[in-house]
Amino acid sequence: MKNGTAAAQTTPMMAQYLALKAQCPDCLLFYRMGDFFELFLEDARIAAACLDIALTARGEHDGAAVPMCGVPAHSAESYLARLIKAGHRVAIAEQTETPAEAKKRGGSKALVGRAIVRVVTAGTLTEETLLDARAANWLVAIAEAGGALGLAAADISTGRFEIAALVPGALDAELARLGAAEIIVPEGFSYDLPAAYPTPDGFDSIAAERRLKALFGVATLDGYGGFSRAELAAAGGLLAYLDRAGQGTLPFLQPPRRRAASDHMMIDAATRESLEITAAAGGGRKGSLLDAVDRTVTGAGARLLAADLGAPLTEIAPIEARLDLVALFAGDGGLRDMLRSKLRALPDIGRALGRLAAGRGGPRDLGLLRDGLDEGYGLHQILERIAPRPMLLDALLPRFIGHGALVDILRRALVPSPPIDASNGGYIAEGYDPALDDLRGQGGEGRRAIAALEARYRDETGIAALKIRHNAVLGYHIEVPARHADRLLKADSGFTHRQTLAGVVRFNAPELHDHAMRVTQSGAHALAAEAAHLEELTAATLARAAEIAATADALARLDVAAGLAERASEGGWCRPAFTDHPCFEVEGGRHPVVESAVAASGDRFVANDCRLSPDNRLWLVTGPNMGGKSTFLRQNAAIAILAQAGAFVPATKATMGLVDRLFSRVGASDNLARGRSTFMVEMVETAAILAQATEHSFVILDEVGRGTSTYDGLAIAWAVVEAVHDLNRCRCLFATHYHELTRLAERLDALSLHHVRAREWKGDLVLLHELARGPADRSYGIAVARLAGLPPPVLARAGDVLKRLEAGRAATGGLAAGLDDLPLFAAAAAKPEEAPDPLRTALDAIDADALSPRDALDLIYRLKRLA
Ligand code: ADP
Repeated sequence: MKNGTAAAQTTPMMAQYLALKAQCPDCLLFYRMGDFFELFLEDARIAAACLDIALTARGEHDGAAVPMCGVPAHSAESYLARLIKAGHRVAIAEQTETPAEAKKRGGSKALVGRAIVRVVTAGTLTEETLLDARAANWLVAIAEAGGALGLAAADISTGRFEIAALVPGALDAELARLGAAEIIVPEGFSYDLPAAYPTPDGFDSIAAERRLKALFGVATLDGYGGFSRAELAAAGGLLAYLDRAGQGTLPFLQPPRRRAASDHMMIDAATRESLEITAAAGGGRKGSLLDAVDRTVTGAGARLLAADLGAPLTEIAPIEARLDLVALFAGDGGLRDMLRSKLRALPDIGRALGRLAAGRGGPRDLGLLRDGLDEGYGLHQILERIAPRPMLLDALLPRFIGHGALVDILRRALVPSPPIDASNGGYIAEGYDPALDDLRGQGGEGRRAIAALEARYRDETGIAALKIRHNAVLGYHIEVPARHADRLLKADSGFTHRQTLAGVVRFNAPELHDHAMRVTQSGAHALAAEAAHLEELTAATLARAAEIAATADALARLDVAAGLAERASEGGWCRPAFTDHPCFEVEGGRHPVVESAVAASGDRFVANDCRLSPDNRLWLVTGPNMGGKSTFLRQNAAIAILAQAGAFVPATKATMGLVDRLFSRVGASDNLARGRSTFMVEMVETAAILAQATEHSFVILDEVGRGTSTYDGLAIAWAVVEAVHDLNRCRCLFATHYHELTRLAERLDALSLHHVRAREWKGDLVLLHELARGPADRSYGIAVARLAGLPPPVLARAGDVLKRLEAGRAATGGLAAGLDDLPLFAAAAAKPEEAPDPLRTALDAIDADALSPRDALDLIYRLKRLA
């Protein structure tokens, strides 16, 4: 704003707008004006461009026309969805009074009062239309305290609430696991998270602890696992943000579940991306592992399956418990079909509950809960008869019952299919409330009387075209064609003129007025009575929110298990077995995504075995391009994920030791399309593996080293294989086109050589996609090039060049000449005996707990001198 003069030109409406905008400067402001939400100034420019709607102007502000655009209030949700998707936040300012109320309050020129009722952001949605039914919607807050990191995450559409401590290196992996819709951090947060949104409020561990205790009605949080300061601070930030989003109405949250990093397989962001676990390379669900496995029939089941695949377990007992349930349904097709058809008809009670708790629910949500909880009870009756029952089923069963009283009230209170929107009433069933029935009776009588009146007026006036109509402005009125109006316009006609339109004239009459009053009054009273019931029923439902959420979770678990069993029986998958030692033995393994793509093109997928064990833990896989190396690597990683998520796996037999961390890296050139400094990225990611993989980890490395010159690439690949073999000692599949690496087999005793088979047949290359022991005999590069359609003269020329090169190689020993007398990696990597570092010795000697602050200061000076 310029100065006083300009400010003086500000209209009262603009002043109100700017005051509201100042409350949410980071949001686009939806300013309600009658039937529209309007956006002004810069907001209007942004929204018009994003929504592709017309940008107009309204009045002047600061001496310039005010850009404006608007969306109809009744279809605002679809516009909201697009703005949110594009990364915007939207504050919604509603009218808090009617124009009539405003006039009464402040005279004829008074401006209608408005207030921000809600802030809509990607992580705080509950609307069915704005959410993906099959995906969770996490809002994540991250905070730092006392040198530690904490994370709090809530999916307010279902009330799931998780808190976790993090080590800095695991931050990306955890965010990738959750696939957060929105991330918030305190202002000045020291980690670089480009997607995160800094927000000032609430990241205070002490206030957060108090708040959490009050919210869940507990005296201590120890029952949930006891949280660090950083975790509490993150939870505090999360709650403050939800407060702001709901402008004071906090959505339903289940008691927080504490996650420890060791609870699930660590899978970093790059690995998730390269294995396409829950999203394919293009970003969508299609083509992902999840999509190839998912046979769930409910939104909640799909969400749980995505969470399971994103966080495979690392303890045998809970994995076996899930597998027992899958096995039950895999072994009994009749039971499975029956269960799935019942689940398919089930409403999404978790999200219905979420909407009600957020204050954005309606009669239909209560109806959904009534039906869903009732179905849950029906399932209980069926599942209870199963004997013997797997442990997990026993644990789930009690969660389906106990809602009888609530279901009963809802059944009596609501009509069979209640409307989404409460404002027109009609959702409370007849017979539930005699007073309401009475009001409705009066309304009905009034309407019948009015209908009778119409017939009488026609008789009395002799105008057959006379009608009694109703609209929002006039209420009930009599309407006659203009050419008959004269009779009724006479002073003694008993009719009062209300309105003249082009073809018709409208009147009122005392008797009609009386009946109409009765209809509207009883209608208004009936609406109010219904609204009061709605409130009561909602409160009764929310009083059982935790139990309902538990039922929703249990139904989702059933759906996941039945869906996995369905998938297993479709594809002939097997139940994996687990052992204590880090082996990985898969017979007849397949890749579910590639298999269906291959099948779609009419070919047959070739199953392959993989046998890793402590003394043969690194497989070097060579063979021609397109031979199936990547597929083999990825299918085994997928099998590890599926097995530990508690699913059957695409193989005829699978036995493995638990995997603590899974890594997958694909050589740079596959990522070229993304235009990053790809070789750098490849090396950063490879460094992460070398730093983090343990003896229990599983690593797949696909063409690492490819992103640079031949010599560099070979050298790096060589050193990486040696390091993985000697230092990390993890299970590893390493695919490469550097034939020279096969020499490593002579030096590394737990490494073995394998190749994907190919044959040249009548001059054509046949890729057999079959894994065999030993190195590939040749690279078939030119044959692959022919397959790809390179022109014959170029192929012939390449053949000549190759002959020369091969002759040269034979004479000189080739690319890897000179490597034969390379000292062993372990010897080179271990530092020669050095004199002990005095700084380290001093550090080792410190007993931190025994230090006084004064000693600590002295110590720092001493250490500085040593450095
Ligand atoms: P590479 O990594 O050796 O270049 P890929 O694993 O990318 O090869 O496989 C190339 C293509 O070969 C796949 O897209 C698929 O169509 C086919 N393919 C791979 N593995 C198999 C298999 N086991 N059975 C049948 N076809 C396969």
